[in-house]
Amino acid sequence: MKIAMVGAGYVGLVTGVCLADFGHDVVCVDNDRTKIEALRRGEIPIYEPGLAELVKANVAAGRLVFSDDLAAAARAAEVIFVAVGTPSRRGDGHADLRYVHAVARDIAASVEGFTVVVTKSTVPVGTGDEVAAIIAAANPEADVAVVSNPEFLREGAAIEDFKRPDRIVVGLEDERARAVMNEVYRPLYLNQAPLMFTGRRTAELIKYAANAFLAMKVTFINEIADLCERTGADAQQVARGIGLDKRIGPKFLHAGPGFGGSCFPKDTLALVKIGQDNESPMRLVETTIAINDQRKRAMSRRVVAACGGEVRGKTIGVLGLTFKPNTDDMRDAPSIDIIRGLLDRGAQVVAYDPQGMDAARSVIEGIAYAESAYAVAEGADALVLITEWNEFRSLDLDRLKAAMQVPVFVDLRNVYRPEEMARNGFHYVGIGRPAGS
Ligand code: NAD
Repeated sequence: MKIAMVGAGYVGLVTGVCLADFGHDVVCVDNDRTKIEALRRGEIPIYEPGLAELVKANVAAGRLVFSDDLAAAARAAEVIFVAVGTPSRRGDGHADLRYVHAVARDIAASVEGFTVVVTKSTVPVGTGDEVAAIIAAANPEADVAVVSNPEFLREGAAIEDFKRPDRIVVGLEDERARAVMNEVYRPLYLNQAPLMFTGRRTAELIKYAANAFLAMKVTFINEIADLCERTGADAQQVARGIGLDKRIGPKFLHAGPGFGGSCFPKDTLALVKIGQDNESPMRLVETTIAINDQRKRAMSRRVVAACGGEVRGKTIGVLGLTFKPNTDDMRDAPSIDIIRGLLDRGAQVVAYDPQGMDAARSVIEGIAYAESAYAVAEGADALVLITEWNEFRSLDLDRLKAAMQVPVFVDLRNVYRPEEMARNGFHYVGIGRPAGS
């Protein structure tokens, strides 16, 4: 099929290249010309494992091209995916739909023949209706079916998630789009990936409900972890104990510094806003957001406490900046709040991240960067592990300790075992374990 993918970001690029890999003819369109030029030169603007190789192979096979000409791409396409950003609107937390609406207007001017317009961006309930109305108003002759097909991939494992999804949700109101979407996803369908057809509004809500539920699950275990610390219980064992119950499941039960990233913070806020607009308050989600915001700030206080109650003039080394491993994405990463809290208390911060330092430089000011975990440890009064990159999982503890001024290690991901760290002479603080264990 001839597919146009509008927005060549984390979602658009991965989705576009995977659809090309299925054998479709894909043009990835972005209005960021530097991005398109870089892609044409074979440079991948984001870090995502396996992406560079897959792009190269599909470009070489002639199935994947990059363009900034949306009109031409829309004219030629049988299916147009919209994968532009939907960030939080400043002030009220509503999803900012200006990019989606702009693309709808541009598409309207150019489509020819029956075309399926698929919203992959995460958008509030009713956006599909709006997109259809915008297209109809701008070009009454346009013959389009607007479909909602939310994306569930995880950054860092995006290609695997796209190729082996738990489900594909397709919300439509025009039955002609069903056969087209079946054809788009046929290779996955053959792999038995369940294609779930719903109404368009239902599909839009499924995405927010899924993300809000996962954010609640993480926040729940974080609160349980706090309780464990005060009661002498062990949060990791509690998580395992409840996770083995099939009704609960083991995923998203790792206590940590609070959720961040490009989706959970903005999607939970947007769901609260949708609830308010529809007089159906999302109180659990509201509380989840409040708890999580407080938690990120509390993490810097935890570091201060581990340093004896004072960090002024001390050097704190930070391991990991991105919101999770295997990505360079810094959007709403917990490290931003934690580092800000440390700087506010007069600490000097030195950080290292395997992939996120370029992006971090534009969002975190006033810190120094180092080129390895050991360089971060040099002269540090404490180390804080914020993101559990693999290379932080088996650090040479003797070398680390020898480099540090004071061997304080705050492990916000519970990568290390308390006994092991104590044996190696560290003052170690994890998450959700009783003091002194
Ligand atoms: P992103 O910011 O990485 O990419 C968006 C791209 O759209 C940018 O390259 C931007 O230049 C381009 N763009 C904006 N306006 C455009 C226009 N008018 N024409 C052409 N291109 C335009 O965003 P992302 O992380 O890929 O997210 C995209 C959507 O997918 C969001 O709604 C997000 O909520 C959703 N989503 C993201 C993830 C994730 O893990 N990142 C997962 C599931 C869903």
